[in-house]
Amino acid sequence: TVFEHHEYDGHEGVHFAHDRESGLHAIIAIHNTALGPALGGCRYWTYQDSEAALTDVLRLSRGMTYKSALAGLSFGGGKSVILADPRAQKTPAQLQAMGSFVESLGGRYHIAEDVGISVADVEVMAERTRHVAGIRAGDAGDPSPATAFGVFCGIRAAVRHSSSLDSLRDVPIAVQGLGQVGMELCRLLFGEGARLFVSDLNPERMKQARERFDAIPLEGDALLDVDAEVFAPCALGGVINDLSLERLRASIVAGAANNQLAEARHGRALQERGILYAPDYVINAGGVINIAHETRAGGPTYDRARAFQAVARIAETLEEIFRRAQQQGIATSEAADQLAVARVAQATHRAA
Ligand code: NAD
Repeated sequence: TVFEHHEYDGHEGVHFAHDRESGLHAIIAIHNTALGPALGGCRYWTYQDSEAALTDVLRLSRGMTYKSALAGLSFGGGKSVILADPRAQKTPAQLQAMGSFVESLGGRYHIAEDVGISVADVEVMAERTRHVAGIRAGDAGDPSPATAFGVFCGIRAAVRHSSSLDSLRDVPIAVQGLGQVGMELCRLLFGEGARLFVSDLNPERMKQARERFDAIPLEGDALLDVDAEVFAPCALGGVINDLSLERLRASIVAGAANNQLAEARHGRALQERGILYAPDYVINAGGVINIAHETRAGGPTYDRARAFQAVARIAETLEEIFRRAQQQGIATSEAADQLAVARVAQATHRAA
């Protein structure tokens, strides 16, 4: 059952929907709302089965709680998944049904875009619910550029910490996934003179990265074998696992993907190999920080420069986590979890 599920962590609510008319199968997981309403994107994905979807949504929603806590935001953690194939099955009726599902939770969960769900899709959901984020209220719109900028600042901080370099000039960086975040990250890294290696399942995107950023495209998981300073996972989760760790040659893992560690113990495994890990939910918080600015500004007064200044502070948070991990001899993933859990506990205590 959900309660015995290995990723269940006292979630406040796990909600299932099946809308027969539109064919929507979806799960919304609300992990914790001590700091505010649960905020998190919606993933549209072809899962192997509903068990795999549940595992994903439980982990992702907890990650959102930790992410907002460490970004200093007044949001809790939640996430949703739609179980389907985006190319074959996505319809406006399904997205509207998802909007109604979100609305039925009365504002405890706010939905945004994620893998397989675009800003335009969220706009369709918004026909049925007010509880959406990351759409074109004000000028904020798509959170991906802010996410990419946060990852870029985080990579600079990690490189500075591990090799005292103040510049990324000629630093070899391997970017896995050239989607909304990965491509923009490449643009920023190229602007700083980094040497890029890239991979994507879509050959057209690899071609684009080669033409625009002089990137060296590599097929499959060959990126793991590259002598890069940084490996930046910007595709899907679970990339740091027993198999990839045997091959990974980078000194730093710092990228946008959620749930990069296949299991929590892989954080310790990275530390034991002397690889500096920028915890995923810390470095990829730029999008949610941007959304918080959009919400706070109440729309038209959204100030992009101020929002991006706030995103840049991800570097300071990471530096604190690197320092704590070093002082206590623990993995950076453990240091980040400790800090996040303490912040949520404080908020829960204040509310009680
Ligand atoms: P996206 O769907 O736009 O891009 C993902 C890209 O990865 C696609 O181009 C896809 O072809 C590629 N890909 C998939 N599997 C791959 C593989 N095995 N090897 C190489 N490439 C592969 O998604 P996105 O919005 O760019 O997000 C990327 C990651 O960052 C996701 O894990 C997402 O959850 C996370 N994230 C995104 C945001 C955001 O603001 N978009 C915020 C936080 C975290």
